[in-house]
Amino acid sequence: MLHTKCPRCRRGAMFSGGLYNFGSNKIYDHCPHCNLHFEIEPGYFYAAMYVSYALNVFEGFILVAATYAITHNADSPWLYTAAILIGLLLLSPINFRYSRVLLLYWLSPKINYQPHLDIDDTTPYL
Ligand SMILES: [Zn+2]
Repeated sequence: MLHTKCPRCRRGAMFSGGLYNFGSNKIYDHCPHCNLHFEIEPGYFYAAMYVSYALNVFEGFILVAATYAITHNADSPWLYTAAILIGLLLLSPINFRYSRVLLLYWLSPKINYQPHLDIDDTTPYL
């Protein structure tokens, strides 16, 4: 899951390009190994917005706690606002990817790991 591999075969990459590679940070339509269609139904990844929202809230709390631990500043709301905005901006490519990964791995009951697809055979299952 951390390597953003396909949730069904755990072999094929889900995304093209690198994590911070702007312009080509796209999810493939189909798994290059087992041919799973990632967007199960039209607009399926709108649900990833809710996962992304939860990730952002969680990361925001961590950023506030880390800012307080580093600066011990309890007076300036701008310090915390800046820390949250800059931190979440830097984390946004991670949130983009892992919100979809979490959605497909944990919140999609139709997609399960199938060990018989997790083999080195280079012939794709079409
Ligand atoms: Zn696959």
